[in-house]
Amino acid sequence: MGLMPVIILSALLVVVLILIIILVFFNPFKKKEDPPEINVNESRIEVINESAQPAETTAPAQADDAVQTAIAKARRAAAMYDYDAALEMIAAIPDYASNPDCISLTAEIGDTKARLIKWSDNTKISHLRFHTLIADTALAFDGDQRAASYAKTTVTVTEFKNIIQKLYEKGFVLVGMHDIAELETAADGSAAMKQKAILLPAGKTPIVISQDDLNYYRVTAADGFATKLVLADGKIKCEMNGREPGDYDIVPILDAFIEEHPDFSYHGSKGILAVTGYEGVFGYRTSDTHFGPDCAANDPLYAVPNVNIEEDKKKAAEVAKTLKAEGWEIAMHGWNHASFGAARTYESLTADVELWKKEVEPIVGKTDILIYPTGEDIGSFRLYTDAERQTELTLTKYEYLKNSGFNYFCNIDASTPYWVQISGSYLRQGRLNVDGRMFTEILSGQKNRLEHLLSNEEIRAIVDPIRPAA
Ligand SMILES: [Zn+2]
Repeated sequence: MGLMPVIILSALLVVVLILIIILVFFNPFKKKEDPPEINVNESRIEVINESAQPAETTAPAQADDAVQTAIAKARRAAAMYDYDAALEMIAAIPDYASNPDCISLTAEIGDTKARLIKWSDNTKISHLRFHTLIADTALAFDGDQRAASYAKTTVTVTEFKNIIQKLYEKGFVLVGMHDIAELETAADGSAAMKQKAILLPAGKTPIVISQDDLNYYRVTAADGFATKLVLADGKIKCEMNGREPGDYDIVPILDAFIEEHPDFSYHGSKGILAVTGYEGVFGYRTSDTHFGPDCAANDPLYAVPNVNIEEDKKKAAEVAKTLKAEGWEIAMHGWNHASFGAARTYESLTADVELWKKEVEPIVGKTDILIYPTGEDIGSFRLYTDAERQTELTLTKYEYLKNSGFNYFCNIDASTPYWVQISGSYLRQGRLNVDGRMFTEILSGQKNRLEHLLSNEEIRAIVDPIRPAA
């Protein structure tokens, strides 16, 4: 090779190098070449990059985080069997059609959906009734006059945790009253209660749970029960006489359990919380009758006004709002907890419901679920509308309650594994009272009323060893 070609080649190389340097460091073409069909997500990232140079590496990471959070939410909805909601969440993710995680989750959901089974008959769903749990057994079972009553009517935190763990392992899934049936309005304006399709994978069984008297009455405050529901970092926790807020009752225990096992909840449903009014709700002394400025004149047993009553009403309302957002339903349980049964006059019943609506409804919101105080029904098992076979008193009470906005009625009935009546424009359900009395019966060899849910051996393993013998 002669000298000239070497010089020419070297010169060319230098020119190419200079061009590369110019392109890399000055890039005169940048910015002008955005493809016109650029999609929303890419253009958003582009804007972030240009407006804040140091964010070059963090901005796509943030966008990625947002996508991962959205995918996790969709996955959680799918775990709760709410596949349509999950698919909608995926479709709202930018670029979902080309995101491998979205593609595989969509395929997974499609696969599961194709194999779902409609629950055969929504009148075959059990409903378990609980009371406030005993959180401190040493205080509750201290041998005083109330200890025997607690042993009969309540279960302990340990027992409740054992029960839900066992039910979960056996494929039970929590549904709400409105998952079982809902009012449908026909073209002519008439409303009828209709079963709703409950779609679950094979091997899953719907079940309802409820807690009565979520009021934290003053009488139980020193006996090892929670004393108040409070909000702590956006979550519902229990207060208990000066202890740090914790999981001392059903709501925070079940919230935490479902956080870990979302497949224990159908579409986010948890349970029904029944509240009375005479001592306020959730541990807040919000009743104007018993804790307002004139309380002593209203009732000598309630002579000490709550000076923070208005503030407490607001706090209780915040708790109610969070409970509902977290999948809990709230039910009316009468204002003064006296039975709605035959011994109660029509006038006394209507006055009680009006007082509940005046003092409790503004805090917990409207509800169409009535959980009968003491569990006693207004009538017999015949249809509420059976004019031939219900008493006049039952018929008028039902008409009043229905006109007052109640569509779901729950009593206590441990004679059958489940009892649901859907007729006309109402649903009525019997509830099994899960409590110490039932455990004692089972342990002493009497009928196991929970046999369809838990065997005798399972009950034996569930019962708290600290529970006093009957
Ligand atoms: Zn009650």
